[in-house]
Amino acid sequence: ALTIGIVGLPNVGKSTLFNALTRATVVAENYPFATIEPNVGVVPLPDSRLGTLAEMFSSQKIIPATVSFVDIAGIVKGASEGEGLGNQFLANIREADAICQVTRAFADPDVVHVNGAVNPKDDIETIATELVLADIQTLEKAIPRLEKEVRGKKTEPEVLRTAQGAMAVLEEGTPLSAGAAAAGLDPEILASFQLMTTKPFIYVFNVDDDGLADEARQAELRELVAPAEAIFLDAKFESELVELEPDEAAEMLAESGQAESGLDQLATVGFRTLGLQTFLTAGPKESRAWTIRQGWTAPQAAGVIHTDFEKGFIKAEVVSFDELVELGSVQEARAKGRMRMEGKDYVMADGDVVEFRFNV
Ligand code: GDP
Repeated sequence: ALTIGIVGLPNVGKSTLFNALTRATVVAENYPFATIEPNVGVVPLPDSRLGTLAEMFSSQKIIPATVSFVDIAGIVKGASEGEGLGNQFLANIREADAICQVTRAFADPDVVHVNGAVNPKDDIETIATELVLADIQTLEKAIPRLEKEVRGKKTEPEVLRTAQGAMAVLEEGTPLSAGAAAAGLDPEILASFQLMTTKPFIYVFNVDDDGLADEARQAELRELVAPAEAIFLDAKFESELVELEPDEAAEMLAESGQAESGLDQLATVGFRTLGLQTFLTAGPKESRAWTIRQGWTAPQAAGVIHTDFEKGFIKAEVVSFDELVELGSVQEARAKGRMRMEGKDYVMADGDVVEFRFNV
């Protein structure tokens, strides 16, 4: 499964947030194939459509899609000793498909800030610089090797040119996520270099009560990280919220004036940032959201349910969630000819409610 690595300077609230994520981790029984590891939090993707489907189909249970977060320890040591990032840290971050940086924006004088003052902009730059330096080191090793391979006609010159172009962007101090497109670098070739700064970023600003209400400050911080997405949450509050029964939690959330918990926002933004989407299946047994990549075809989607479904794919019977709700039932959708028969080239849309037909 695709994962989001959580990074941040010391004392910003990473552990507090990560503990909340692990407390929110979905019950393992629904995910027999998921190995739950101590540094991984697997949280449900909030999806109100599942409740509606479960009612319509009298489903016994609801199974949401999930988003995986990995706690990436290690930036502490490298950064504080001024030696760049540790090797283990680099290996862990390389494995993550997106990076979530937790940044401190709460004031609490009792919690020491590593750089002496709370300054989200500086913190973001500190980590960006470390990652840019790590990428420069990677390319410093790769470029001489690529030069040799191009001379020996084992590699296309375009690959070398892309590496050199990436190096030029990084040497300006610019992460590739921000500078690669403008420099005209091929995203696919770039991805083959396994660099850090090509990964999509999400910023979590750990704020206190005042910060949650301060829209002017939030707008400033949003602008600071755009086009990456920013989430504002109070990690301490989130860690208390996950300890409560669902109705108590909903009450406490409403009291705090928030429409959605920070963890729910993080799951939603994380899922989207990973380039994922869901399709839905529903029946008396369960209403369920399945995870696929954006752009996947019907047979690929069928393969997520069972590999045999992909091999024996005949067609998919599809209705969009909104249309199904409007019509009230599958029977009605069929009667009105609104259940579409889609073939193997059909590209799935988010919220498709699907029944696959296949040969076994
Ligand atoms: P880490 O080093 O980034 O993992 O940070 P921790 O999660 O261990 O948090 C460092 C300290 O800040 C702890 O004493 C936390 O209780 C405190 N802390 C974390 N989040 C918040 C917050 O949202 N508000 C306040 N006031 N304190 C927080």
